[in-house]
Amino acid sequence: MDLRMLGMATDSDAATARQLLEAAWQARELARAPVSGFRVGAAALDAQGDVHLGYNVEFAGAPLGETLHAEHAAVAVARRYAAAQKRGDLKIDVIAVTATPCGHCRQMLAERFPHIQIVLGDRGGAAEPTVLSLKEDLLPRAVTFDLLANPSKLALCAKDLEASVSAPKNLGATVLTEALSSFVSADARFSGWPRACVFVSDAGQSLATGSCMESVAFNPSQGCFQTALMALASEAQHLSRHGLPITLDAPSALQALASSMEKVRKVVLVQYQGALVDDQVIVEHLSSKVFSATTSTLWVAKPETGNE
Ligand SMILES: [Zn+2]
Repeated sequence: MDLRMLGMATDSDAATARQLLEAAWQARELARAPVSGFRVGAAALDAQGDVHLGYNVEFAGAPLGETLHAEHAAVAVARRYAAAQKRGDLKIDVIAVTATPCGHCRQMLAERFPHIQIVLGDRGGAAEPTVLSLKEDLLPRAVTFDLLANPSKLALCAKDLEASVSAPKNLGATVLTEALSSFVSADARFSGWPRACVFVSDAGQSLATGSCMESVAFNPSQGCFQTALMALASEAQHLSRHGLPITLDAPSALQALASSMEKVRKVVLVQYQGALVDDQVIVEHLSSKVFSATTSTLWVAKPETGNE
């Protein structure tokens, strides 16, 4: 499917572009932009025909760099879904966005989905959506990195790490397992210093997990707190759906996420002892701002065979 060939494309390709764009505009209704008021929605279509919604999130009282963009959010939701479905490889062919992607998002997409197409356009516009090639139209000569040539340095399994963890007191076995699973699935292949976090309820149950998603240029990289927040949102708001078109009940979805967020009492961060990339301060800050939650850190002893 090459949606750019809309003039010659099948009616179904054109319909896909329109419906994906409509889904992005619906996702935009969920955005949280207390600083800028600028709301963005995104909808990513993967190779299996599943659609993953994302929206931007700004954190009042936190550094601007912690802002989550809609495209990053949609990819985080898609990664989580692929992991839950035990799909090895995530392939996103098309992403619709309600605003032109910024340079950061172009870079992130280029690293993971170099052949992705970008659909842009007004909501319910009379004109057909604009479909662009990321590689040819939006980011030629990208700083690229062959991910396959640089497999993750984290060839570990969660079980192997359990013995090397100094766990905070009162941390349940399930939370520990989920924390370590999230840690080993972190996309930290550029720094070699993974970070993950778990949102925990009053009853000590894991509500959502997230892990970092790095960029070859380091900045922009997505923090583990933000991906865990999108996991919580994805669970509450059903941000992954199969097939188009999508109908979102935004007020109900907002209410569902608010209810889920109220349950978060503690955030558990996982990282290596002596980490050169240390998220502790920022995760503590975001946890207190977003949830009024406390943070505890699970320190993992770095294996001898880990990172150089
Ligand atoms: Zn962006």
